[in-house]
Amino acid sequence: MTQASVDERIKLISAGNATGSTCDPGLAKGPWEFDSGTPGYGPGASLGDVIPVGSPRQGSLPDEYKTASVDELHARIRAAKQTLGERVVILGHFYQRDEIVQHADYLGDSFQLANAAKAHPEAEAIVFCGVHFMAETADILSGAHQSVILPNLAAGCSMADMADADSVEACWEQLMALYGEDAVDGKQPVIPVTYMNSSAALKAFCGRNGGIVCTSSNAAIVLQWAFERGQRVLFFPDQHLGRNTAKAMGISVDQMPLWQGRKALGGNTEQQLHDAKVILWNGFCSVHKRFTVDQIEKARVDYPGVRVIVHPECPMPVVDAADENGSTDYIRRAIENAHEPSVFAIGTEINMVQRLAAQHPEHTIFCLDPVICPCSTMYRIHPGYLAWVLERLVAGEVVNQIVVDDATASDAKVALERMLAAKPL
Ligand code: SF4
Repeated sequence: MTQASVDERIKLISAGNATGSTCDPGLAKGPWEFDSGTPGYGPGASLGDVIPVGSPRQGSLPDEYKTASVDELHARIRAAKQTLGERVVILGHFYQRDEIVQHADYLGDSFQLANAAKAHPEAEAIVFCGVHFMAETADILSGAHQSVILPNLAAGCSMADMADADSVEACWEQLMALYGEDAVDGKQPVIPVTYMNSSAALKAFCGRNGGIVCTSSNAAIVLQWAFERGQRVLFFPDQHLGRNTAKAMGISVDQMPLWQGRKALGGNTEQQLHDAKVILWNGFCSVHKRFTVDQIEKARVDYPGVRVIVHPECPMPVVDAADENGSTDYIRRAIENAHEPSVFAIGTEINMVQRLAAQHPEHTIFCLDPVICPCSTMYRIHPGYLAWVLERLVAGEVVNQIVVDDATASDAKVALERMLAAKPL
């Protein structure tokens, strides 16, 4: 018997036909119910996060896609894909629902998918089933003749939105005023490092200011690169990835002040900033913030010998309590490479964990968080939107195109290329 998808489980629980719990009853509704009205990230892990003014809004999805059954939508997606052939490539992030993943030509993390886009110059359209910053990166790395399409424009990322370009520029001005702009012993006072999960504007900021991009797979190598060129690092938007990576490199948490945007000097003293090695932006992922040390302790009691692997976007005490931490791809490979039947407790997004469990029946694999709480914004991509964008393409119309302007793309590419040179992927 095939296992119910996360979406099916949510619907069963909401209807009272299955045990378990979800973090929000709104998860059982169609995502289009949240496209109009008050802007927000929608139900799921980032529901309570503050959405910036001016975030992209999804227009109304035609009714035929809202009322069609999932089976009908699947048939329409397959038919449109067949008609389009090599003209389209569909990319699916690991955190997408199974109902989307089954149509993806590639499944991966954000950077693997951007590279997959690059590898298909023959495709005139790249449909990115992920979130906004990923589609931007794909647009930067793909050819000028290609259109990158995000099926639901409301699929942002609350973590990426926690660092906006104006706030980072304001922080940078204060740091430059404090440190001065001159290099000491050949090292710049501070190097900006942005996580891949950030807007194109911030990648461009790094490109212009001697900085670099990192992923959760290469953050340590990128920090080494930065420390060869600078006395300290300004790391945004995810404080946890920055802290966990720097701590593993032997940097004391006392030398990692948190920058809180609205306060003078980010809420720090001049001395703290002079002593700093890594200045951490006050951002976080609401999906990974849900994991706790208590959950790990319970998993160890319930399953002696369990292997606990968490994503480095989890808070530091959780990473410290786990056996291992690593990117989505690290987690996937760790399970694939386990030859003896094992028990894995995983701290990352539920769609990915449940898919791994289904793919590896030889192991026992479960999510540390017992509550079903997918990433709100990843969840905004529903087969209805995928069918809509594909059928519009068949009709010769590109909808929901994500375009990064040339100046931003060119500066962002500089920071991305520095990352590739720091570690060829
Ligand atoms: S899982 Fe976290 S970082 Fe990833 S898209 Fe969702 S909110 Fe953003």
